[in-house]
Amino acid sequence: MAVTRPPFVRAGAGAMLDCVIIGGGPAGLTAAIHLGRFRRRVIVIDVGEGRTGLIPRTWNHPGHPAGIPGAQLLHRMRQQVAELGIPILPERVLRLDRLPRGGFEVLAGSLRVARRVILATGVVDRLPPIADARAAVLAGQLRLCPVCDAYEATGKSVAVIGTDAHAASEALFLTHYSRQVTLMTLGAPAQLSPDDRTTLRNAGVVIDQSPDVTWDLSGEGVTLDRPGASPLRLNAVWSGLGAVAQADLATGLGVVPAPDGRIVTDDHQETSVAGLFAAGDVTTGLNQIGTAIGQAQIAASRIHSILRATEARVIDVPAK
Ligand SMILES: Cc1cc2nc3c(=O)[nH]c(=O)nc-3n(C[C@H](O)[C@H](O)[C@H](O)COP(=O)(O)OP(=O)(O)OC[C@H]3O[C@@H](n4cnc5c(N)ncnc54)[C@H](O)[C@@H]3O)c2cc1C
Repeated sequence: MAVTRPPFVRAGAGAMLDCVIIGGGPAGLTAAIHLGRFRRRVIVIDVGEGRTGLIPRTWNHPGHPAGIPGAQLLHRMRQQVAELGIPILPERVLRLDRLPRGGFEVLAGSLRVARRVILATGVVDRLPPIADARAAVLAGQLRLCPVCDAYEATGKSVAVIGTDAHAASEALFLTHYSRQVTLMTLGAPAQLSPDDRTTLRNAGVVIDQSPDVTWDLSGEGVTLDRPGASPLRLNAVWSGLGAVAQADLATGLGVVPAPDGRIVTDDHQETSVAGLFAAGDVTTGLNQIGTAIGQAQIAASRIHSILRATEARVIDVPAK
């Protein structure tokens, strides 16, 4: 079926956009697809350093029984956005300000103004101090999301890097899949309460505080060489070092982040700043592609219905 490309979504710099979407991962691209199909004037601004591009193959994303590499999923979503005529600008948003009469000013490569903004900037994972950690993630040797890929390591020998309660909880999560789980602190002292230590011991998690560990990533899994001890051969290693929410643009406008640094929204994904919406990993909730997609759909639908309520008639409906 022939599709009429809606030229009205192409707005030049200076024109008041319906929405600027900051971030072009699953959350931002989903919001763009929905707002584009709502015939809204939208742009996506995305510096392109998101988490989805790091996924060797996602196995839990519904509809892909053979799994799908993150980069491929992203490519398909970007294609869908492009089909709607929505620009994806490869820029970093440096500043977000409110306009005195409502709406927002967004500074990236140039200055844009928009009635609404969706923040879909995600989080950045803290990686262990190894050379080429990114390559190890892409190879599936270093992992970042046990919810996503612990299943693939069922019955295998695995480890979590970290020292604190967060890393401990990831190690405990993995004991549902494996009896050989090690919490590696890489020589740092474990910062765990006596209760945490007892729980880990009862679950069979070994705490290893060996210093000067060297990583051998030349094989299929990971071998951790420990001075004075036998090498630890592992199927996979998870970083339990957490992630940093990319929430500065929101906090700069007065949004108070949750204790973990992420953004709290209402049921429609609107933040405490009217007109500023957020979706995906940057918000509190499960860091999953499906969650990001669902939140973006909610935000986009809400924005469209708010804008419709303020408009005398639907913009520029083409004659048949
Ligand atoms: C190794 C790995 C494996 C994973 N496996 C799975 C899995 O199997 N299943 C699953 O459901 N989830 C998985 N996840 C989680 C999944 O990747 C995230 O939940 C998902 O990417 C969140 O989407 P998002 O759009 O919120 O953020 P992202 O995908 O991180 O996208 C955010 C985008 O915003 C951009 N950005 C940030 N700040 C700015 C700025 N100031 N200006 C412009 N652009 C900006 C970033 O560069 C990025 O492109 C995995 C994550 C990792 C790291």
